[in-house]
Amino acid sequence: MPVSPAYRPDPRFFELGAEYGDAVKPADFPQTILRLRNDRAAATVGLETLSDAEWIAHFGRFDPLPGQPGPVAMRYHGHQFRVYNPEIGDGRGFLAAQMREVSGAQAASDRVASDSALPTRLLDLGTKGSGQTPWSRHADGRLTLKGGVREALAAAMLESLGVPTCRILSLIETGEDLERHDEPSPTRSAVMVRLSHSHIRFGTFQRAAYYGRKVQIEALMEHARSLYHPAVAPGDAAGFLAAVVEASAALTAKWIAAGFVHGVLNTDNLNVAGESFDYGPWRFLPHYEPGFTAAYFDQNGLYAFARQPEAVFWNLTQLAGCLKLIAESEPQVADLAAALNGFGPAYIRHLRAAFLNRLGVKSLGEAADQRLLDATLALAREKKEALRWEPIFFDWFGGFSSAARALGGVRGKTYQGEAFDAFRFALMEHEPDRPERLEHPMFAAPEPEELLIDEVEALWSAIDAADDWAPLKAKLARLEMAREAWSL
Ligand code: AMP
Ligand code: MG
Ligand code: MG
Repeated sequence: MPVSPAYRPDPRFFELGAEYGDAVKPADFPQTILRLRNDRAAATVGLETLSDAEWIAHFGRFDPLPGQPGPVAMRYHGHQFRVYNPEIGDGRGFLAAQMREVSGAQAASDRVASDSALPTRLLDLGTKGSGQTPWSRHADGRLTLKGGVREALAAAMLESLGVPTCRILSLIETGEDLERHDEPSPTRSAVMVRLSHSHIRFGTFQRAAYYGRKVQIEALMEHARSLYHPAVAPGDAAGFLAAVVEASAALTAKWIAAGFVHGVLNTDNLNVAGESFDYGPWRFLPHYEPGFTAAYFDQNGLYAFARQPEAVFWNLTQLAGCLKLIAESEPQVADLAAALNGFGPAYIRHLRAAFLNRLGVKSLGEAADQRLLDATLALAREKKEALRWEPIFFDWFGGFSSAARALGGVRGKTYQGEAFDAFRFALMEHEPDRPERLEHPMFAAPEPEELLIDEVEALWSAIDAADDWAPLKAKLARLEMAREAWSL
């Protein structure tokens, strides 16, 4: 079957013009073996009706989908570990298509009160590992199969925890042997397609600013404003920045509550919609550890777990610097500064909300919510090893704390002490939220199934030898169950 009637192409980025991207050709792969096909994600854009053969034609060989102009490698620059690099860009990927989300399909995590007369969100199909582009420098334009699986797992875990994230639509093995210095060689190859709410990065603005092209910054801002922050008035740079700041603060807070470490928070890896994407060396915290670093090459811990808010804020200052170039007066510059400084308060507000959500309790006002946040973090600091931060942990705690609100239970013993008493006190002040969650089979089980990080890591490390995809698919199915439970 071809695309469904719900498929609505809307290739807006391609209208921006030649300054923003380059038409490219996909690599010609020796094989195209379908490994992962995310039909739930596909159904949000009307692509679930494709046959496997059609799927492979569009997502392995990149025959353009109906109404799409063909692959474009996006141009952008970026600060990598705080060093400006004007030579990057889509070096192993491209924007393959843009289409409207089917109405009602928006994830619970980022659903906003929406007027049904407004168009639904614009989503992108972006590739990774689809071949060389003018921005490949000396690299091969390829993706390892392990890298693709890692990205699919990260996205599924984040989505299951309600973090705004891209979704991995497709992973197709491509039959090449790749050499990677940090992997046993050779390693298997794949091409991935992600479904994402915007690939306009902070670095997209930085490129225009680097060349001093005000007209281009203005055009980009108008493009991004109208598509991703339509509540902001045309031409309102400070309003646009404030919207990006707000979305980025919410995203960062949700990473922290999820125990997620992105690993590479460069300005080319953050988009203006505040949706998380581009997962390389990510890790989840096994237990509370502020200095926990994901990337082996991040020797200074620049992007360590607890430094992520600082990293995102630093990146936002770079975006603000680009927007400053189009400010016309001192008051406009002051407005930009004020918008930027909104990050701290927004982050704390979203952090309280994110922790409350994980603990399964309702807000009781700022002061009581803050007490609960502080008490949770104090407990996490004190109990480190005992208190696991893994994806399911807080569900457990939520389920646990409401079912055994008395918390005299078995698991309670592990945590006993002053910090635990304070935590329990702060928690009991709050009322349980969405008790229907606890009815979900995942939480209702006496020993809820855990979604262990070790297990996830084992899955992807075994990929080079694996020809049995059942364990990975089972894992993704369990994450899907967690997502359902969480979204209740
Ligand atoms: P990342 O750290 O994954 O965000 O990548 C940073 C830059 O390096 C981007 O411009 C990528 O497109 C590029 N890049 C990474 N790996 C490759 C590769 N194997 N071939 C070509 N470009 C790459
Ligand atoms: Mg990147
Ligand atoms: Mg990478």
